Amino acid sequence: MKFATKAIHAGVKPDPATGAIMTPIFQTSTFAFESPGEHKGYEYSRVQNPTREALEKSIAALENGRYGLAFSSGVAAIDAVIRMLESGDEVIAPTGLYGGSFRLFSRLFEPLGIKFHYTPMTSGGEVSGLINEKTKMIWVESPTNPLLRVIDLEMISKLAKSHGLLLVVDNTFASPFLQNPLDFAADIVVHSATKYLGGHSDVILGAVVTNEESLHKKIRIIQITAGAVPGPNDCFLILRGIKTLHLRMQRHCENARTIAMLLNDHPKVKNVFWPGLPGHPGHEIARKQMRDFGGMVSFILQQDTKKAAFRFMKKLQLFTIAESLGGVESLCGHPATMSHGSMPRDQRERAGIHDSLIRLSIGIEDTEDLENDLIQALGLSQE
Ligand SMILES: *Cc1c(COP(=O)(O)O)cnc(C)c1O
Repeated sequence: MKFATKAIHAGVKPDPATGAIMTPIFQTSTFAFESPGEHKGYEYSRVQNPTREALEKSIAALENGRYGLAFSSGVAAIDAVIRMLESGDEVIAPTGLYGGSFRLFSRLFEPLGIKFHYTPMTSGGEVSGLINEKTKMIWVESPTNPLLRVIDLEMISKLAKSHGLLLVVDNTFASPFLQNPLDFAADIVVHSATKYLGGHSDVILGAVVTNEESLHKKIRIIQITAGAVPGPNDCFLILRGIKTLHLRMQRHCENARTIAMLLNDHPKVKNVFWPGLPGHPGHEIARKQMRDFGGMVSFILQQDTKKAAFRFMKKLQLFTIAESLGGVESLCGHPATMSHGSMPRDQRERAGIHDSLIRLSIGIEDTEDLENDLIQALGLSQE
């Protein structure tokens, strides 16, 4: 099945009891047993819920994976994956990864004795230099947030395999429409479905997908034991969002291309980060591993200060200043004080997330309206 067909049909079938075309929202905590020890495959909603199962199958299919698991948030999904590790284990992760992942690693897992090494992951040597007998996992996010750096999945995957390490890819920014890390032999894919999968900024949810039964079983035990499961309503909303994922992503990418080119040519803009620009350092790798270049565009104004960035943001009329991304509406964020506010300044600066950096989540509105909003705000950004 091709992507668009999977987006609409995978995991969902008419309800056997009623014929309802849409998977019902099974808003129930518990299920009747037919007799002691005999049930229809559902006992208790932390363990099994039909709406959640439909979603898990759908996301797994979109990622070309065999097993999917849904969680109450993206970070809960990430938490479940890291919980497979033990004290003394080490992980290699990219500099400038999602701020919430960084906080989870540093605040909750480092105190438990799991060590995280950060590297830009631009070359294999850089990563292999950090591998020792305690290393268990390589964590990748590509494109990264907010600088849209592109990490070579094939290169990292070969390295992980040759050292017997688990490779986990946070595929939130690309979405399964643009990139399928399991096809590059990643072991696990995680998603914040809150973003593009849901696509309408109305629900928080996370997912884990894998092809390996043993990994699936381990994470499934964590899912039902720690219990960070999403409710059926939230699963329904993500299922609904997924049905238009391919259409939305096409438009996000088209609009982002226009905006990236506009900013790139604008005299008040110093630097634009979008993997589709031929001058972007990850452009060639992005062409190799992604189907298009995504809907996120970051940039720095010619007047490279926090004050100028804030002035620009305040002048925007259509773009809303908000956290998050991947919804139909265009958003503007200031990574240093928003998504990456919990990262210590020196680490942030080293990762290249300066106070002047502005991040745009390009929505699917009319392209010209978005362009005009940016042009007017740029015009007023230096007073
Ligand atoms: C938002 C996000 C997360 C966390 O997801 P939540 O649903 O907010 O918990 C993880 N990774 C990336 C790349 C994200 O953008």
